[in-house]
Amino acid sequence: MADYKTYEQKMRFYKSAGWQAIRQQALVRDNYECQECKRQGKVYTDHHDPDKRKRLDVDHIKEIEHHPELALELDNLQVLCVWHHNEKHGRFSKKENKWDDEKW
Ligand SMILES: [Zn+2]
Repeated sequence: MADYKTYEQKMRFYKSAGWQAIRQQALVRDNYECQECKRQGKVYTDHHDPDKRKRLDVDHIKEIEHHPELALELDNLQVLCVWHHNEKHGRFSKKENKWDDEKW
């Protein structure tokens, strides 16, 4: 079982052909739409940078760090816009918090 605990391990995974293939399947399945925006009933709102609003990420619902066996499971993937992806992983700090690199 592969490990995805370090930055290097994750980067290697995200560059792999297996990931690129399943990622594409997830995008098609989700119609290239952010699932979180969709849940909120709005497709793209003003919190999305207009220049980046078309940028979509494919997110692991259960993080591969803790669930490496689900890394290539379509059911564990969802399409998120960059904004929501960052929000989920706490990469956008609230003003009083520091940038947190560990949680992503
Ligand atoms: Zn979104």
